Amino acid sequence: MHEMAIAEGILDIAKEHAAREKSDRITKIGLLIGEMAGVEEDALRFCFSSLVQGTLAEEAELSIKRMPLVGRCDACDYEKQIENYNFICPKCGGGLAVVSGRELRVEYLEMD
Ligand SMILES: [Zn+2]
Repeated sequence: MHEMAIAEGILDIAKEHAAREKSDRITKIGLLIGEMAGVEEDALRFCFSSLVQGTLAEEAELSIKRMPLVGRCDACDYEKQIENYNFICPKCGGGLAVVSGRELRVEYLEMD
């Protein structure tokens, strides 16, 4: 499952940081997920909670922030939130290129 691979990646990052900070307990993981990242939040939470059993992130809370899909016009630089897959610039009719909404990253970690 796609979300399982993502959960593994997140756990790896968390473990790496914990090792560097000489921490043995991760309390919170902040994630930034774009609307278009193709991640099912519920599936990710489920995979993560089963994956962290017995690890230093066992009690970590997943805090997920969704980023809206935003496009910028190639021709006139107009920026807008994209709805209903409409990538046409309302100002000039040009094409909007995605500038945010595809991100998937660990934004911050809290540990003891
Ligand atoms: Zn435009």
